[in-house]
Amino acid sequence: MTKDARHSDRLGTLAVHAGLDPRAHEGAVTMPIYQSVTFAAPDTEGLEAVNSGKARGFVYSRVRNPTVMAAEQRLAALEGAQSAALFASGMAAVTGALAPLLQAGDELVALPDIYGVTLRYFTELLPRQGVTVRWATSLAPGDVAACVTEKTRVIYAETPTNPLVRIVDLPALAAIAHQAGAKLVVDGTLGGPMNQRPLELGADLLIHSATKYLNGHGDVLAGAVCGARSELRAVRSFSQANGGVMDPHAVWLLMRGMATYGLRMTRHNENGQRLAEFLAAHPAVGKVHYPGLANHDDHALAAKQMTGFGGLMSFEMASAEAARHVVDATRLFAIGPSVGGVESLISQPGNTSHYSVPPEKRREMGIGDTLVRISAGIEEAEDLIEDLTQALEDCK
Ligand SMILES: *Cc1c(COP(=O)(O)O)cnc(C)c1O
Repeated sequence: MTKDARHSDRLGTLAVHAGLDPRAHEGAVTMPIYQSVTFAAPDTEGLEAVNSGKARGFVYSRVRNPTVMAAEQRLAALEGAQSAALFASGMAAVTGALAPLLQAGDELVALPDIYGVTLRYFTELLPRQGVTVRWATSLAPGDVAACVTEKTRVIYAETPTNPLVRIVDLPALAAIAHQAGAKLVVDGTLGGPMNQRPLELGADLLIHSATKYLNGHGDVLAGAVCGARSELRAVRSFSQANGGVMDPHAVWLLMRGMATYGLRMTRHNENGQRLAEFLAAHPAVGKVHYPGLANHDDHALAAKQMTGFGGLMSFEMASAEAARHVVDATRLFAIGPSVGGVESLISQPGNTSHYSVPPEKRREMGIGDTLVRISAGIEEAEDLIEDLTQALEDCK
């Protein structure tokens, strides 16, 4: 904390100040990069004190690094979490959150709409480690409860989902998990701490791909797991053994990105709503999937559980050719995967986030070739709308 920052400060303030006390760093107002792997101990007694946990200090950067720790404290403050651990990517955070909770013979209940590579992890890798993955037939809490057995250790959900931007009822899932003695693990990447607080809604562990909104500039891969200090102990112990930690240089960029998180997210939310309303009113566009629209299946739940609806949306075109055309005809939207950066992106999810999911499984998930996904950046909404208008021109 800086000299006057407090945990009660509001999100946009914490994003600038949390995790950094300039007085501890020669007055520096941005966190210095501690590009050192080894930290020398004053003497053997001092080293023993740190090793045994009697004193706080730094020994080796895979375990603890001052720059990394500052960013972890900033993120924990944004989430109102006791603790946060950074990982080298969102996927490293997914595996880092789950590894300490699961062993051979255990079961994980997964909700159906999850990130493509997480889906691959659940179908190809977890079963090889002796973990049975049970897939709920829908996001409805009743269908999730139907998959729970006495071997269930984890219920795993993502909210909002990608690319259909469905919202999952977190308090209901937390009740199901806790009644079964299991943990609720939530990937909250597409919401972010300004729009939703999964830990306050009952999640035991919250995962972020910090690559997305938290860093926000499309230039750093990063992941995080947030939760209670008691939960994070095992996560940190795993990350030291697994080694998928962040480099201090990349962490410095992440901290610079997080400083503007409040500003950027406000704009993503505004642009998301504007673009979704524009698309919903366009004659060439079919159903628009955006929780800020009153006709979205989960609008009521979203309004209860979230304070903003983000920049991610998807929409149906009349044909696969029309979908392809819109993607190619935009001028300002870069064609590619990811979400949450300052730049707007467009893609057919089958070619990006769900490329690794077999086509028949994709269709089962409601992700057909007519679907187009947009991540609204922080550009001027008028320019984005003009661009979409011309791209949709020939599709009527
Ligand atoms: C991008 C993403 C991930 C993976 O994060 P990486 O940083 O790319 O490893 C996981 N979950 C969700 C919801 C994502 O959008």
